[in-house]
Amino acid sequence: MTVTLDEFRERAREFLAANCVPRNDPPVERSEADYVAECRRFHQALADAGLGGITYPVAYGGLGLDKTYLEVFNRELSQYQAPLVPAAISHGMCLPVMNDFGTPEQRTRYQARIIRCDDIWCQMFSEPGAGSDVASLATRAVRDGDEWVLNGQKVWTSGAQYCEYGLCVARTDPAQPKHRGLSMFIVDLSLPGVDIRPLRQINGSSHFNEIYLTDVRVGHDCLVGDEGNGWNVAVAMLMYERVAIGAGGSGALGGTMTSTKLIKEARSRGRAGDPVVRDALADLHIRERIQTFIGMRIRQAAEAGRAPGPEGSIAKLNAALIGRRAADVAMELVGPSSQAWEAAGDDGDQWAGAVIGAPAMAIAGGTNEVQRNIIGERVLGLPKEPDPYKGQPWEQVPRS
Ligand SMILES: Cc1cc2nc3c(=O)[nH]c(=O)nc-3n(C[C@H](O)[C@H](O)[C@H](O)COP(=O)(O)OP(=O)(O)OC[C@H]3O[C@@H](n4cnc5c(N)ncnc54)[C@H](O)[C@@H]3O)c2cc1C
Repeated sequence: MTVTLDEFRERAREFLAANCVPRNDPPVERSEADYVAECRRFHQALADAGLGGITYPVAYGGLGLDKTYLEVFNRELSQYQAPLVPAAISHGMCLPVMNDFGTPEQRTRYQARIIRCDDIWCQMFSEPGAGSDVASLATRAVRDGDEWVLNGQKVWTSGAQYCEYGLCVARTDPAQPKHRGLSMFIVDLSLPGVDIRPLRQINGSSHFNEIYLTDVRVGHDCLVGDEGNGWNVAVAMLMYERVAIGAGGSGALGGTMTSTKLIKEARSRGRAGDPVVRDALADLHIRERIQTFIGMRIRQAAEAGRAPGPEGSIAKLNAALIGRRAADVAMELVGPSSQAWEAAGDDGDQWAGAVIGAPAMAIAGGTNEVQRNIIGERVLGLPKEPDPYKGQPWEQVPRS
């Protein structure tokens, strides 16, 4: 496609102005079902307007443009509230993994549909007994002719209740050490034996689910990457996740509790002169700026063709720490409205939702402690955590 950067920017501007709410307008209130439907419509319209899948190959539904175009688009997009969240994992993690590891047949079959949000995908990694140490997972996949039979339980699966497919890591060889006997599968979530149960959270929503897999049969052509290579595919996906969470730009919680919003709030509540409040806000703003620079560094590395590395962990950890700090400042400023929203009569429910949701950032995509371990080992060169069972077959390692 021959489109200049200026033409592309103009196309993006026109589309976003016609299809999105400006960033500083009050957030749009809608049910989850409406939000998902809006997200699908938005991405379909984006693709129809020649703006979807910017860096992905034309043969697989993308535009085949370089990352400069993506940067231009993201800069324009940052001025708006676009309905992106329901497809964040699908686009930020599943799509690049499909692009990197999928066979040509898989890419032809699935990639364009993911870009357009005709299908939304989820990440099926965590289990009740395997979160931080996800390589110890117990969901089994057993070969039966041209099929694999999956049995096990996943948990924390964001968005599965409205997704069409999941990328599911399962154990194909229990006689291998834990990292080696894993394989990655495409699971059609409408298959018999897939039971998705939403989990209700403290904030009232059901962001994630538990998924029971009972004799779920998938074809051998649903294997992503080679049999036994699931850990490498999973690690690539986790890196994309950390980069997506950590390098998403300024504002730790998708713009909910940015320093800019909190400064406005402090002014409107007559607290902007309070030296303690000023200090907290300045500190938050500085950390957000640092986060922006970390994000820029990651994006530049990606533009130079380098795969995401441990810097994703730095960005993700920092984003989680900023989120907690922002929540503390918000609670101090907003007071009871951050807890008792029904009586508040203002936008208390938004504050409450953001405050209650802030700790999730320290867990999702790998906990803060796990990010610190990665940074310690892979950036600072500290000795690895001792593992008394290293190299032993998974089936011989005691499990709680
Ligand atoms: C909002 C949200 C969305 C999520 N979405 C998904 C999803 O879509 N798909 C999916 O597969 N998973 C998802 N997860 C799960 C997430 O990846 C796990 O919760 C996370 O990896 C932690 O695992 P765990 O909850 O089992 O905690 P555990 O691993 O049991 O950890 C418990 C505590 O021990 C600490 N700990 C564990 N190991 C170490 C160590 N080696 N060193 C130091 N401390 C350690 C942890 O930091 C934590 O504080 C989501 C989680 C959240 C909060």
